[in-house]
Amino acid sequence: MPSSNTSPLTETERATYEWQMWVSDFGEQGQQRLKNASVLISRVGGVGSVVAYELAAAGVGKLVLAHAGDVKPSDLNRQLLMTHDWIGKPRIQSIERRLRDLNPRLEIVPVGENVNESNAVDLVQQADLVVDCAPLFPERFLMNQQAVQQRKPLVECAMYDLEAQLTTIIPGESPCLRCLYPEAPPTWTRQFPVFGAVSGTIACMAAMEAIKVIAGFGETLAGRMVHVDLRQMSFRTLRVKRRPACPTCSKT
Ligand SMILES: [Zn+2]
Repeated sequence: MPSSNTSPLTETERATYEWQMWVSDFGEQGQQRLKNASVLISRVGGVGSVVAYELAAAGVGKLVLAHAGDVKPSDLNRQLLMTHDWIGKPRIQSIERRLRDLNPRLEIVPVGENVNESNAVDLVQQADLVVDCAPLFPERFLMNQQAVQQRKPLVECAMYDLEAQLTTIIPGESPCLRCLYPEAPPTWTRQFPVFGAVSGTIACMAAMEAIKVIAGFGETLAGRMVHVDLRQMSFRTLRVKRRPACPTCSKT
C-alpha cells in the first residue's frame, strides 16, 4: 500500500527508527511509508492498546483511535494505555497521554466513542488501513463493511480465554470477515476471560501485519487465518476462502 507522499525522514526519526530500518526489505523506504500512513484502531482496549503502542513506537504518522468510556480497575490487567491514576477519567485521554509520552511526533485523532453506524464511514475515510480490535460482532461487521466498500485493508483480530485469531482482509482479493462469519456467533459476549499476555500477543502480531501491509514487504495473512492457543502453545495457519454469496464482498 505505497503512499504517494514520501516526505523525507528527519534526523530525529532516523535516530529513533535506525534499528528497524536495518531490516533489509523494509529499510528507509518502508519507514517513510509508515510516516505517511494513517491507521484507524477500532477499540483501544486489551488488543488495541498494544497495537496502538507498537504502531506509535514504529513511527506510523497518524493514528485515529476510537474508544468509549472511563477507565475502570478491571481494565488494568490488559489495557496497557490505561493507568491506575486515571481511574474514573476518560479512557481516550489516557490513551492519548500515554502515546504522546512515547512518541511526541505522532498525530492522534482521539475519538471518545466506539465505532457505530453514524461514525463508521467518516472514521474509515480518515485511514489508509484499519485494525479492528472490537470484541463484538456488530462493530466488527460495520468495520468490515466500510473497509470493503472503501477498499481499505483491514487487520482483524479477536481473542477469547487463551486463544486468539488473526487475519488480514484485502478488499477485492481476500475473504472478508463476513465470508468467515456469515452471522455473528451466538456465544460471543462483551465480557470474557482474558489475560493481558494473550491480548498483547495477538496485538503484536496484528501490529506487524499492519506494518507489512503499509510498507509493502513480507507475506501477509490475506487469505489465511492464524489460530493461536497459548494454553497449548500451538500456532496453526489455515487457508480461508471467499464466499461467493457473501453479502458484503461478493460484488467487489
Ligand atoms: Zn466476504
